Amino acid sequence: MYVNVIYVLVAVAILVLWGRFLVWIDNDLPNMPEQPAQLWKGVLLASVAILLLIWLLIPNFWFALILNIFIPAALLGYYWRTRVQVLGSSGDLLGAISGHMTQFSLGRQAKKSVSQLGLRYQNKGGKPLHLPAVEDPGYNGVVLLDQLLIQGLENRAQRIDLLPSDQAYEMSFTTDGVAYPQSGMQRSNAEPLIQAVKQLTGLSLEERRRPQSADFTTRDADNNPVHWTANTSGTTAGERLWLQVNAKDNWKMPLDHLGMSSEQLTALREVLTGNEGLFIVSSPAHMGRTTTLYSLLANHDAYTTSINTFEINPRADFESISVTRFDPAALNASHSKALQSVMLKDPHILMVAQCPDAATAELIAKYSREEHRVYVGLRANDAFTALELWRKVLPDNQVAAAPLRAIISQRLVRLLCPTCKIAYQPDEAMLAKLNLPIGRDLSAFKANTQPSRDQKGNLIKCPDCSSLGYRGQTGIFEILVINDEIRRAIATGRPVEEIRTLARKNNMMVLVEHGFRKFALGITSIQEVIRVCTPEKKPAAKPKTSTAGASRAGATKAGQIPGQTPGQSQAGVSRAGNSRAGGSSAGSPPSGGVGND
Ligand SMILES: [Zn+2]
Repeated sequence: MYVNVIYVLVAVAILVLWGRFLVWIDNDLPNMPEQPAQLWKGVLLASVAILLLIWLLIPNFWFALILNIFIPAALLGYYWRTRVQVLGSSGDLLGAISGHMTQFSLGRQAKKSVSQLGLRYQNKGGKPLHLPAVEDPGYNGVVLLDQLLIQGLENRAQRIDLLPSDQAYEMSFTTDGVAYPQSGMQRSNAEPLIQAVKQLTGLSLEERRRPQSADFTTRDADNNPVHWTANTSGTTAGERLWLQVNAKDNWKMPLDHLGMSSEQLTALREVLTGNEGLFIVSSPAHMGRTTTLYSLLANHDAYTTSINTFEINPRADFESISVTRFDPAALNASHSKALQSVMLKDPHILMVAQCPDAATAELIAKYSREEHRVYVGLRANDAFTALELWRKVLPDNQVAAAPLRAIISQRLVRLLCPTCKIAYQPDEAMLAKLNLPIGRDLSAFKANTQPSRDQKGNLIKCPDCSSLGYRGQTGIFEILVINDEIRRAIATGRPVEEIRTLARKNNMMVLVEHGFRKFALGITSIQEVIRVCTPEKKPAAKPKTSTAGASRAGATKAGQIPGQTPGQSQAGVSRAGNSRAGGSSAGSPPSGGVGND
């Protein structure tokens, strides 16, 4: 019998290629535990036999070829469809296959040598971390981690999140305080990666539920160190991981670098003189409150004045400043009692990062009247809301008003990337609505998030911002300076609207105005100002609203500031009296960037 060699080669090629795919599908099936894997495997194996039989039994080459293409294509199409149905967008087969190929080639690379890793791994003290041997199955996890960190660093991520969902892992990079979702990661990649992090950093491999965290350092080819904190904890869908770039210096900034206008700085410096009185710094979460509190402390001479901080989560080390950490999870932890023992040391300057209850507020009010300066952080949308919150928690208006010097409120806006920002003529109607000077001399810019293309049509990302459109952050502020007139109004319980009118009479600039000013200077975009100035949303109402309301009232009576529970300091108040966000994701980490708490 005459056999055309080319026909045989084509037949073998198709069978080999299809066989290769089947191996991949065999590895992929565990990602969809609900699918009948045995049935799939049976059908797919049978397809190989059928293809072979077609070649043997059908004499017409072209007819056999068509069947040999059609049958695998139909099966693959059906598998693809099932995959997308089960896994959602992360089920896309192309992404999965390319991910598999990357992992495959990474695995091959890993076998060659350790030097294939892009980063070197060290502990906090700078000693190399013990990497698993390249033959070790755990080594692949390290390779995947290496790729993830490099990708994160290229995107200037301050934080990398891997969050398990039903079938795969959702991934995001947080850059300049904004979380950017990335394409998802297969469980078969994410799980070894998380195990690798735990093994490298010495976390317990068995513990998959309770939160764990550990620090490590990476160094790139140029020996640049990046300090990371790896955090893991359990969720109902599996174990999550978040890696935070831990740049202590990002939390330290001189007062005049925070972004205040010159008028604001002058007004603030005037009330900052002396060593007594109370300053409140308020913002929603991750909007730079801690950085501002540290800047205010750094404004004092730590060698001639005793300075103490009282924080749940200290972010930076300062020379000559004593830091007291409060652990809300400790047995019988009481924020006010712990604060009282700090006050017994009698520091001149005291920073209290949060004010979770009335007892704490009373201590602060008293202490700041007795020749001490106190800076306290409050989670509130604006200066007037913070004032209301402060007044509400201290029943005596006199006590609330007496020590107050200023209430600072702030947001962080992202800076437009100077390399790629786009000049445009804003809509006049919009400018009129925002009360901005129309037309003349307004250098309006917006973010450019579209990578350009070269002549061959390849995407070119902006080298300075990776085409995110923004690079870096700055603060926008409103400062309510408490002069005698305003203090009297507070002490006599005047409504907050009246106080607002008094402050506006003294040329107080509000947050949005400061934001628009930065927009008009081309530093940020109008969208960014609107984004950060939109009040923090009220948490979604829980089904049992009425009981929630009742328990809230109870909690307030018991002396708690809504939204300022110790240990849930991330839980917020959007307005005084709003229900708390607390408990919406107990144990889940705050999202957000470095130095912007
Ligand atoms: Zn750019």
